[in-house]
Amino acid sequence: MKFVLKGNIIYATEKKKIITRKKSYVVCEDGICKGVFKELPIEYKQFKIIDYKDALIMPGFIDLHLHAPQYAFIGTKMDLELIEWLNNIAFKEESRYKSLKYAKRAYENFTHSLKNSVTTRACIFATRHVLSSIELMSQLEKSKLITYVGKVNMDQNGLEIIDEKNAEQSIEDTLLWLKKVNTFENTKPILTPRFIPSCSVDLLNGLKNIQSKFNLPVQSHLSENKKEINWVKELFPTSSFYGKVYDNFNLFGYNHQKHKTFKTIMAHCVHSSEKEIDLLKKNKVFVAHCPTSNINLNSGIAPIKKYLKLGLNVGLGSDVAAGNNLSMFEVIKCAIQVSKYYKHFIDANVESLSFEEAFYLATLGGGKFFNKVGTFKKGYEFDAVVINDKKLGLNNNISIRKRIERAIYLNLDNFALIDKYVRGEQINLYD
Ligand SMILES: [Zn+2]
Repeated sequence: MKFVLKGNIIYATEKKKIITRKKSYVVCEDGICKGVFKELPIEYKQFKIIDYKDALIMPGFIDLHLHAPQYAFIGTKMDLELIEWLNNIAFKEESRYKSLKYAKRAYENFTHSLKNSVTTRACIFATRHVLSSIELMSQLEKSKLITYVGKVNMDQNGLEIIDEKNAEQSIEDTLLWLKKVNTFENTKPILTPRFIPSCSVDLLNGLKNIQSKFNLPVQSHLSENKKEINWVKELFPTSSFYGKVYDNFNLFGYNHQKHKTFKTIMAHCVHSSEKEIDLLKKNKVFVAHCPTSNINLNSGIAPIKKYLKLGLNVGLGSDVAAGNNLSMFEVIKCAIQVSKYYKHFIDANVESLSFEEAFYLATLGGGKFFNKVGTFKKGYEFDAVVINDKKLGLNNNISIRKRIERAIYLNLDNFALIDKYVRGEQINLYD
C-alpha cells in the first residue's frame, strides 16, 4: 500500500519537541512512514495523494491502559474511591461478562467507540472470563486497531461473583485462552494479574511460569492508592515495596532466571517510593499515567515530569471507566492540568508538563511499547489520524501548533475525526 497524505502535519520527535509543517506531505509505503516533505520527492510522485486541504494530520494516539468491560458503565459512580468503586460497581459489572451474549453486545459498543476515537493502539484489560475475552479480541482483530488484550487473573479478595475459583482454575483458563488467541494478527495476548491483592501466591507463581514459557508481556496496576499500598504491605510484609512483589514473581519487566527483560506496563505509579521508581527504570517498565482516573477516584497525582526527567518509559492511559472518557485528547489535557496541581500542592521542585510533553506522552511515549510507533519520522510504523478543526467554528488563522492545542483542549475528538490509518491501512469509520 503506497500513498501520500497532504495537509497540516504535526508530530513529536522527542519529549519537548513538536514539529509542525503547513500544507505538506507525509508518505506511507507498505505500512511504514517514509517521512514528511514540503515538496514531494520524485520517487513518491506516482503514489496516490489524498489531499486533506487545511485539516490537521497527526500520528495515531496510544492508550496504554483501559478496561473494555467497564465501558458499559462509563461516567457512573464517579464519587467513590478506588476500593469502594471496585466493590460497588466494577466487580459487579464485570461479573456480567460470564454471559457471552452480554459480552458480545457490550464489546460491540466498546469496539465501535474505540475505532471511532483518535486511538490507534491500546493495551486493554478484559475480564477473567475466557470466552468473553476471546470475543473481545476477535472484535478488535476485525477493527484493525493494534491492541494487546489480557484475560484478567484474580483468585482472591474480590467478590464471590467475580473471583476465580482458585489458582489452578485461573491458570488452566489462562492456558486455554492463550491457545485460542494465537492466530490473531492485530490483537495479541498480554498477561494480566489484576493487581497484587487479587492474586494468591499460587496464582502469582503460576503466572510466573506462563510468562517464562510464552515470553508474554505483562500489564497490571501499581501504587495507585494509599489504602491499596497498605493492603499490599499487609499481604506481603517482607517485601520492601509494592513493585517488588511483582518483581519477586518475575512479573515486573525482568525474568530473573533467564536474565531477560520483557515488556511490562504498570498503570498509575502515583505513590511509588524512590526504590520502586529505581526498579521501574532499571527494568524499563512502562508507566501508564492515567490522570482522569486518578482525579475521579481521588487517588492522587503521579509525578510525571520527574519520571520523564529520570528517563522512565511513560505513556498515557484513559483507564476507562475509572477514567470518564475514552478520548486521548481529554487525557492529554488532564495530564497537563494535574501536573500543575502537583507543582502547586505537592512539590514545587517538580515542574508541570508542557503541551509538547503531554502530546509526546500520548503518541511517541506510549508508542514505544509497540516498538517504532507514534511519530512520522522515517522508518516508523504508519498510524495517522486526520482532524477537521474547522468544526470548532473559530478563527483558524493561527499557527498549526495553536490549532492542535485548541483542538485538544476543546476535546475535538471523534466529533471532528475525518480519517484514520493504522499500520498503513485505512480504518472504516462509522460502519
Ligand atoms: Zn485500571
